Amino acid sequence: MIILLKDKVNENQVKNLTNWLEGIGFGLHISKGQNHTIIGLIGDTSRVDMDLIASLDIVETVKRIQEPFKSANRKFHEDDSVIDCGGVKIGGGNFQIIAGPCSVESEEQIVGVAQAVKASGAGMLRGGAFKPRTSPYAFQGLHEKGLELLSEAKRVTGLPIVTEIMEANHLPLFEDVDVIQVGARNMQNFELLKELGQTRKTILLKRGLANTLEELLMSAEYIMAGGNNNVILCERGIRTFETYTRNTLDLSAIPVLRRLTHLPVVVDPSHGTGHAYLVKSMAMAATVAGADGLIIEVHNDPPHALCDGKQSLTPEQFDELAKGIQNVLPFAVR
Ligand code: PEP
Ligand code: MN
Repeated sequence: MIILLKDKVNENQVKNLTNWLEGIGFGLHISKGQNHTIIGLIGDTSRVDMDLIASLDIVETVKRIQEPFKSANRKFHEDDSVIDCGGVKIGGGNFQIIAGPCSVESEEQIVGVAQAVKASGAGMLRGGAFKPRTSPYAFQGLHEKGLELLSEAKRVTGLPIVTEIMEANHLPLFEDVDVIQVGARNMQNFELLKELGQTRKTILLKRGLANTLEELLMSAEYIMAGGNNNVILCERGIRTFETYTRNTLDLSAIPVLRRLTHLPVVVDPSHGTGHAYLVKSMAMAATVAGADGLIIEVHNDPPHALCDGKQSLTPEQFDELAKGIQNVLPFAVR
């Protein structure tokens, strides 16, 4: 349920109302937008007398929210959320490119790629240290050592770092990580999401391989229900009958999510297509469709990458992509 307050209201009256609502057991989400102040109620709102609230002096209207996601709902928070990622902002007109290798392989690799993508305009560095691989015999990542190398690349370049977590017990290792990625395979690992909800870290939540947008938003809700509103959503392609591409990149997810939620939406055309030659066109399309950012796999030597080389761009190709994005950004539909 949301309570829309009148334009000019007395702070004491607002306090009385919020104290009363909290006193009867509701969680509140208060959003002071450009035009209105909205109080979002979290909990079983069937217990509350809507007419009574609507009759209060300071209240403009009271509406029930039909969707099962509440904190993530744009009706709770009409302006775009701007999320801090280690000093870099995303959302609300702040467009960011996250770039880097699928996995961290060595100091030379991660520091070299970080310097190159920074020079091309990337705002954050990605790199996996704990890798969810289909085969148990495939490279699983450098684990703690990988995280240390990411911190080193951050120290050298100043770029905030983005890396995937697979297990809540690993959280103490992620202290220096600016954005914690929840990969597609863990989108519905609800215990992990609840633990991340207890932190105030920024979370990049990737859409599951076969999950609907409502399920993605419900997973964001799990994190936000714990009080952590620092969530970024990521469309990374879904499983369809098409096998020519690794996944089918759902570009329509961008305007749908932007309508349903205030959270920033990032697009991953690398996993979304699986082929380096498709990444630039899909990145440009996603930008024009209104994405708040991109996450792109970049490797110094794609043919020899330990993970996802086929879809990785060279630093030169990434530079070209970044220029293309600057050219189309003014035409983005928002
Ligand atoms: C990745 O970002 O390297 C990754 C494993 O992504 P996803 O979870 O989308 O497959
Ligand atoms: Mn990858």
